[in-house]
Amino acid sequence: MSNLPTGSDNDLNAPWNEQDYGDKECPDCLGDGYLYYSPIEDGDYYKEECDNCDGTGTIPMTKEDYLDWLESKKEDFREK
Ligand SMILES: [Zn+2]
Repeated sequence: MSNLPTGSDNDLNAPWNEQDYGDKECPDCLGDGYLYYSPIEDGDYYKEECDNCDGTGTIPMTKEDYLDWLESKKEDFREK
């Protein structure tokens, strides 16, 4: 039983049909969730929550990320 407009539950571009590709490591903080920076060379490091992932260390994978990942898996398989 669907409350969606007729036919739209088969629309692959509709938000409710968008595939969940999972999460990937945040490229900005490398999965740490925090960025470290030092205002002066060899000085103390400051820790700042990463804006890109809001401190979670992961961001949602896009379809492109997923296809890249899939491609890399295929390459792994070919090498064996
Ligand atoms: Zn991050």
